[in-house]
Amino acid sequence: MAASISKAIGTMRQEAELLLLDFDGTFYHFTDEFDSHCDDIAAKVLIELGVPGTFEELREKGKESYQKHGSNFTIFHTMGIKIQDWHDIYHCYLEESYISEFHVTARQLRDCTIPIAILSHSNRSWITRMLEKFGLTDVVPHDRIFGLEDVDYLFKHDGEKVYRRVLEALDIAASKAIMVEDSLRNLRPAKKIGMYTVWITHGKEFSQDQHPYVDAAVKRLPDLLQGLT
Ligand SMILES: [Mg+2]
Repeated sequence: MAASISKAIGTMRQEAELLLLDFDGTFYHFTDEFDSHCDDIAAKVLIELGVPGTFEELREKGKESYQKHGSNFTIFHTMGIKIQDWHDIYHCYLEESYISEFHVTARQLRDCTIPIAILSHSNRSWITRMLEKFGLTDVVPHDRIFGLEDVDYLFKHDGEKVYRRVLEALDIAASKAIMVEDSLRNLRPAKKIGMYTVWITHGKEFSQDQHPYVDAAVKRLPDLLQGLT
């Protein structure tokens, strides 16, 4: 780990009172087939909602939307389908077999002295199901888990509002909170309001010059927890 990154994590250890964790891609890694699985799910959800077209046609539309916008959620927005109408159905179709590796243990999370909360674009049901599957039930209290429906479907990349909402609910100042994400674009608004920001790289190259809104980058969540414990 670079000296500047170790120093940044050392400052967080001293100052932070909240470790706010993204869930998917931060607690674990998806398999290479996951994107294709999401294309399947989008088509299934669209059919269930009565959108005309064959499975293959709708799958192709979803795939195009993903390639264009970088999110497999965009297809629903493009078609004018309200998020309240598809988000839960989507997560019902999500299969846990596409999780390739679960990175963090209950012990590592419990050893971290900074209180933890989760803020995810997934729904609460998926998060709690996966926490249970990987033996992490009770590691994060239920009132510290924020699924997308708990924050009025506000996306992290869309602005600071969702971060303000969660910090207010937990009564923590932005300057005392660390946001941890595998998605870089979600970290920009967090930094804008003065949170510490950590990117989970999964081994990708990181340059602070290119991403000045990122305070520290680590390969996996346990690398950060180790630095904070
Ligand atoms: Mg993520």
